[in-house]
Amino acid sequence: MSSLLPTLHPVFVSQLPADPELSNTCRSVEHAAYSYVPPTPTKFSKIICCNNELAYTLGFSNAALQSTEFSELISGNNLLSKMQPYAMNYGGHQFGQWAGQLGDGRAINLGQYLLPSNGTETKEYATLQLKGAGQTPYSRRADGMAVLRSSIREYLCSEAMYHLGIPTTRALSLTLTGEEVVRDKLYDGRAAYEPCAIVARVSPSFLRFGSIQLPSSRGDLGLLKQTIEYSITHDYPALIPESGVIDKSVYLQWFTEVCERTAHLIVEWMRVGFVHGVLNTDNMSLIGETIDFGPYGWIDNFDLNWTPNTSDAAEKRYRFGQQAYIGQWNLFQLGNAIYPLIEEAEPLQALLNDYNHVYQKKWLTMMQAKLGLEAKREDSTMDETDLLLCKELEKVMSLVNTDMTLFYRHLATFSQQTNITDHTVLLSHFTTCFYQLEEITPEYLEQLAKWLGKYKTRLSKQKNTDEQRKDAMNKVNPCYILRNFQVQEAIELAEQGDYSRVLTLAELLKTPYQEQQQYQQFSVKRPNWATNKFGCSALSCSS
Ligand code: AMP
Ligand code: MG
Repeated sequence: MSSLLPTLHPVFVSQLPADPELSNTCRSVEHAAYSYVPPTPTKFSKIICCNNELAYTLGFSNAALQSTEFSELISGNNLLSKMQPYAMNYGGHQFGQWAGQLGDGRAINLGQYLLPSNGTETKEYATLQLKGAGQTPYSRRADGMAVLRSSIREYLCSEAMYHLGIPTTRALSLTLTGEEVVRDKLYDGRAAYEPCAIVARVSPSFLRFGSIQLPSSRGDLGLLKQTIEYSITHDYPALIPESGVIDKSVYLQWFTEVCERTAHLIVEWMRVGFVHGVLNTDNMSLIGETIDFGPYGWIDNFDLNWTPNTSDAAEKRYRFGQQAYIGQWNLFQLGNAIYPLIEEAEPLQALLNDYNHVYQKKWLTMMQAKLGLEAKREDSTMDETDLLLCKELEKVMSLVNTDMTLFYRHLATFSQQTNITDHTVLLSHFTTCFYQLEEITPEYLEQLAKWLGKYKTRLSKQKNTDEQRKDAMNKVNPCYILRNFQVQEAIELAEQGDYSRVLTLAELLKTPYQEQQQYQQFSVKRPNWATNKFGCSALSCSS
C-alpha cells in the first residue's frame, strides 16, 4: 500500500559524513556530523496536540493527519523505507566552560521535507526531529526521554514564539508515548515517575554554534569546512557568488549574517520579555532561531536581573538583561571556531565589535515601536534623545514591581490629554500593571509622571493621533504571552489527563496581539498564589 505521508528526503545525511559505527552505545564520535540511530519504539502514540497549519505546509493532507501512519511517525514507530534517522554531533560551551562533545542525546532526526517552491531555483527543506525519542550515542548517562511537562512547555512556547513573529523552531505535534521515567523535579530527593511525551519539531536547520565548534576544537578542518559550507548552501544560499566558489570572504559574510540574526533574535526576546534560560552555545541556532526550550521563562514584573533557571540562580549568567551580551560572548566562540578557515583575527574581531552597534540600533528601533514613536527609517545614526527616553522608562519600570506586558498595553491607551500632574488619574490608569500597591508612593508617581511628561513632549512632535499610536503599539506589544503560571496550570491539568488547557493556550497564542473576549482571563498579571510556586516564577532545570 502506498503511503499517505509526504516523502522525507535524506538530504543532511547525503551531504555530510556519517559515523561508521552503527551500535547505539555512548561514545566519542570523530570526523562525523551525525550517527545513524533509530528512535526507540514506544508503548503507544496518543496525539495531544497537532499543528495542522504547519503540517499542511510540509505536504500533509487531512487524510494523512488522521492516519495511524502519521501518529506512529511522530512517535518514532513508523520507520518508512528510505528513512535514515540520525542524531547530530555537536559540542558546546555550557555556562562559560567548554564541555566538549554533547550532541543530540534525546533528539532524533527523521529527514527533510521539500517545501513548495518559492519561485527561485533554490530548494528549501525542513527537517523533522523527534525530541524525547530515546537514547542515542550522545545520551551520555541520560535516558533519551522527555517528560510530558517539558514537552508541553516546548510545544506551547515554540508556537507562542512563532505567532509573536519571532524566529523559532516549530512544533508539529505533542504525543504521549505511554512510557514513564523517574525525575527529581524539584531537586529535593523526591524523585518520582513521570509520563513521557515526544514533540515532533521542525526547522530549516538544527545546526548549532556547537556544530561548528566541535570539529574546530578537534582540529578537524575537513569537517569544519564541510559543516559551514552545508550551512551556507542550505540556509544562506544568497551568499554563494556566481562563480559558485565558497572562499574566505563568503565565510566572513556568513559570520556577519549569523551575528545579525543573533542580534535580531535577542532584540525580539527583549521585546516580549522572553528569557531563554540556558544560552549555552549548543543551544544557539546557526540560523538565528529560538531553539531548545528548557527552563525558559517570561517576564511578569519587569526585572533585568531575573532568570527562570534555578541552576543558574547564583551567577544568573543567563538573566533577562544579560542576553544581548551572552549573544556576543557566544558569537565570539563561534568566531574562534571558524578562525582556522579565515586565518586573520582582525575581520572577525571587527564583526564582533559591530555586533554591539547592530544590537543597540535594533534595540532602539524595537523600543521606538513599543512606545509608538515614529522614527526615520533610513537613519543609521542613533537618536540619542529617544535612546535616553527608552532607558529612563526601564528605570521607572524597575522602581516598583511593574508587569511589563500590561504596562505597554496601558501605555498604548494613555491619552496625550491626560493631566499627568493629577496622580490619582495616573494611578487609576496604570493600577492593574502594579504588583504591590503599597509600593506606589507619591514619590514613585512623581517619577512616573516625570517620564510621561517627556513621553508626551516627544509624542507632540509627531502627527499621528492617539488612536493611530495605540493601533501601532498593539501590533508589537502582545496582549498574551505564555505566562509561567499559565503554562504550569496547563501542565498540572494535563498530568491529571485533562489536556483542554494546553489546547486553549495553543489556540489563544495564535493571535497574541489581539484582545479576545473569550480569553480575557489570560491577559492578567501573575496572581499572588503563583509568586513562589514551582514552575510559576522560578523553574527547576530537570527535564
Ligand atoms: P540541554 O541543556 O537540554 O540543551 O541539553 C544539553 C545536552 O544534554 C544535550 O546534548 C542534550 O541532548 C542532552 N540531554 C538533555 N536531557 C537528556 C536526556 N534526558 N537524555 C539524553 N540526553 C539528554
Ligand atoms: Mg540543547
